[in-house]
Amino acid sequence: MKKIIIALVCGLICGGAMAHSVAFNTNTHIYHDHSCTWARRCTKNCITIDSSEAKRRGARPCKVCGG
Ligand SMILES: [Zn+2]
Repeated sequence: MKKIIIALVCGLICGGAMAHSVAFNTNTHIYHDHSCTWARRCTKNCITIDSSEAKRRGARPCKVCGG
């Protein structure tokens, strides 16, 4: 039962496995996981959006972190 609750809460917070919050570089159109070195270095052109939204904008995942 506990596992089910955790899964439900995570589903609500994480928005499922498909979409997650990423750092999207509006200049290069590459998106990063927030833990990525390049996401940390990207302060000027990066915005925080959902990975699904980034893909909708024609973004590509980072080769280092995989988005
Ligand atoms: Zn990255």
